[in-house]
Amino acid sequence: MRYVSTRGRAPVLDFEQAMMTGLARDGGLYLPETIPTFSAEEIASLEGLPYEEVARRVITPFVGDSFSDADLRDAIARAYQGFDHIARAPLVQLAPGHHLLELFHGPTLAFKDFAMQLIGQLFQLALARSGQRITILGATSGDTGSAAIEAFRGLSNVDVFIMYPHGRVSEVQRRQMSTPADANVHALAVEGTFDDCQARLKDLFNDHEFRDTVGLAGVNSINWARVLAQIVYYFAAAVSLGAPARAVDFTVPTGNFGDIFAGSIARAMGLPIGKLVIATNQNDILHRALTSGEYRVGTVEPSISPSMDIQVSSNFERALWLAYGRDGNAVSALMEELKSGGFTISQGALEALRETYISGRVSEAETTAMIATIREETGEVICPHTAVAVKVARAHLRAGVPMVSLSTAHPAKFPDAVEAATGIRPPLPSRMADLFKRDERITRIANDAEAIKSLILERRTA
Ligand SMILES: *Cc1c(COP(=O)(O)O)cnc(C)c1O
Repeated sequence: MRYVSTRGRAPVLDFEQAMMTGLARDGGLYLPETIPTFSAEEIASLEGLPYEEVARRVITPFVGDSFSDADLRDAIARAYQGFDHIARAPLVQLAPGHHLLELFHGPTLAFKDFAMQLIGQLFQLALARSGQRITILGATSGDTGSAAIEAFRGLSNVDVFIMYPHGRVSEVQRRQMSTPADANVHALAVEGTFDDCQARLKDLFNDHEFRDTVGLAGVNSINWARVLAQIVYYFAAAVSLGAPARAVDFTVPTGNFGDIFAGSIARAMGLPIGKLVIATNQNDILHRALTSGEYRVGTVEPSISPSMDIQVSSNFERALWLAYGRDGNAVSALMEELKSGGFTISQGALEALRETYISGRVSEAETTAMIATIREETGEVICPHTAVAVKVARAHLRAGVPMVSLSTAHPAKFPDAVEAATGIRPPLPSRMADLFKRDERITRIANDAEAIKSLILERRTA
């Protein structure tokens, strides 16, 4: 399987190289040159299989010769053994024809674990073969950082440095990053915003001498291997609701567009997904783009669903590449325009996008109200991101077509918002009930690339 960049000017890579590289050298994102398809029989045969076996079958065609079948099987088994639900991604019925897909049974209680745990395993295999040592550097608004730390902690050939904005993540999120005691884990509280953290990340990746010295690697959501791992639960959910014999719709609470884009790949592979519904909070650039054809960057308004507080949605570039008929020059031109604030999507591309996606936007008050409504109607307590999806999904239910809303985080990760809506403070699962008693290790650091570089050189265990 060959991987090409959305901007058409980076080297063509195999799966392992695309995974280890992350961002393409032309600034683009890697995608498979052709999308493998499954026949109706192949899809039907997934029914009743363990999640791990569904994962192996869905992932295999994308991996090519990079990993043997035995290695892939073991990596998948190890990735999901720490999940505390046997189904890994269980479905819960909210109403006739409307289901929640619970993606928060992994070690850090958000869907990010599905991809991060697997790429943690695949990175280890690749590094053991090459003898390389790497430094993983990430910027997080909360969930990605803890998932990356959990996936790479304790490994002898990896250091993991995570920058988060000091004072701007929830206490649960901070403690998940600051309490692992492993020497290779480094939580950096940057004096700045999430945007500052992302800017420093770019600075360090663009310093090629530093990048080579420490073997810098990126595991943010533009890494193709993360998208790939997320395709699996669309198959698992749709098959248990009657696919391929019947179509299933999905609503996805969306920020960086990684999770919903994985759904579009499942659809392109032949899974009968009717509509993919983009659900945004008040940071609604994607909803505006789908409605008006104008992709214009505004300012981020902090919300109670902070993991979706994003204006530039990185993975949307992949959807644009497909919508523009895989035209790397067209995508490059759009990304050039984006530097000065935005662009207009061509009529043809907009029609192509609307063939796959519809969208909706949810206000803060509506999010809170939906958490309360679901609690009253079903007894389920949902996180604010999930509530955004459920609200939009309820406006798009179709007779005879099951709707699945992705439940992306455990409510205990966002206790203040949930308590404000329901009066209930959701407890953490018992395995992390002592999170607030564990010792924290945090390094405060200036919003300054040189300071961060020196710290990495000094602290890394490599
Ligand atoms: C990351 C995240 C999202 C958004 O996912 P994208 O892939 O960035 O669209 C939604 N909900 C939660 C809880 C998240 O952590």
